[in-house]
Amino acid sequence: MDGCVAPIITAAPAIIRERGQREVFCGLTGIVWLHRRIQDAFFLVVGSRTCAHLIQSAAGVMIFAEPRFATAIIEERDLAGRADLDDELDRVVGQLLARRPDIKLLFLVGSCPSEVIKFDLSRAAARLDSRANGSVRILSYSGSGIETTFTEGEDACLTALVPSLAASDQAQLVVVGALADAVEDQFQRLFVEIGLDRVAFLPARRAGAMPQIGRGTKFILAQPFLAATARALEERGAARIDAPFPLGIEGTSLWFEAAASAFGIGPDVVAQAIAVPAKRGREAVAKVAAALVGKSVFFFPDSQLEIPLARFLARECGMRLTEVGTPFLHRDLMARELSLLPPATQLAEGQDVERQLDRCEAAKPDLVVCGLGLANPLEAMGIATKWSIELVFTPTQGFEQAADLANLFARPLGRRAMVKV
Ligand code: SF4
Repeated sequence: MDGCVAPIITAAPAIIRERGQREVFCGLTGIVWLHRRIQDAFFLVVGSRTCAHLIQSAAGVMIFAEPRFATAIIEERDLAGRADLDDELDRVVGQLLARRPDIKLLFLVGSCPSEVIKFDLSRAAARLDSRANGSVRILSYSGSGIETTFTEGEDACLTALVPSLAASDQAQLVVVGALADAVEDQFQRLFVEIGLDRVAFLPARRAGAMPQIGRGTKFILAQPFLAATARALEERGAARIDAPFPLGIEGTSLWFEAAASAFGIGPDVVAQAIAVPAKRGREAVAKVAAALVGKSVFFFPDSQLEIPLARFLARECGMRLTEVGTPFLHRDLMARELSLLPPATQLAEGQDVERQLDRCEAAKPDLVVCGLGLANPLEAMGIATKWSIELVFTPTQGFEQAADLANLFARPLGRRAMVKV
């Protein structure tokens, strides 16, 4: 693919825009954390053996007696057209639901094979859903590598969920983005301390507990890669609360402040409610940050978490940002984060992997955050790497997790230092 680099002259931060070869996982990867989050959901990938292999290996060594994802492999069947795939899906879904009455939410997940791309999966899902008579909700979205990068899979999944949410105009806060259960529990407790007791989470842990949505809903994103979900919620009448993301002590504090302020609760109340965990978290981060301060970091575009992570590493851990790449820059969702980055931070949107590797080599950073495919060549060049996928799989949001987050960056630097000794 041809690459083109077009430096855009803007006020700081500086930005490079690129459209070239990318090294990013597809949206199917999101199934690995989404299936853990929604405990009575099932993800049926309509795809190829490659897709089956990808989610199996991304899920690592987890062997479940009753897994909550599977792949209906269609590539090797002699499918003459839509009718065949309809029949095939009916059969697979029928068997699955008969065997697993515990499934309350079934996602049919589209992928790359041309038979699947030509097939109208949303119509098939609607047909199967109406046939299920409310015993199970059946929805669809695409996790295809042609249409999605790896965190866009969650965005597509939640966007598909939004039209199925019941309507309510009651005043409430909805936290949007899959969080680990422990993080949700901590956030829920702090919201109660702050005085917000009507707080719901999307996605919820169970299909039957998904929030209702309407004009009284104000929502706050817990993950930065949910632009389409945010738009879908706004179309249902909900209003987005502008905030940085809850990564690190500063990000988490400002995130709570923004949520409280949207309901007329002032920063003093928030400061008092979060004082103890924020102090504990700050002290824990400071211990880890000793290994990070003064070190340089380079981000390849991958998860869309890059900008909030860069802000955390620069402001709370004293790291130097060489280049912060992100696959997409949603300026409205990122406005608060961008304002917190050190002036003149070099941003890059999109990717042309060869050019970016050249810039990385020239910058000689101490640490590179990148996808799995780039880690080995960079390590061979003597650069410590952090796999960005780990940053999505690991609970990192909130006060209690901030030191763990810093540690995810300190560990590869420590390993590299030991290799050099
Ligand atoms: S890129 Fe396409 S074919 Fe490959 S695993 Fe993802 S959805 Fe399947």
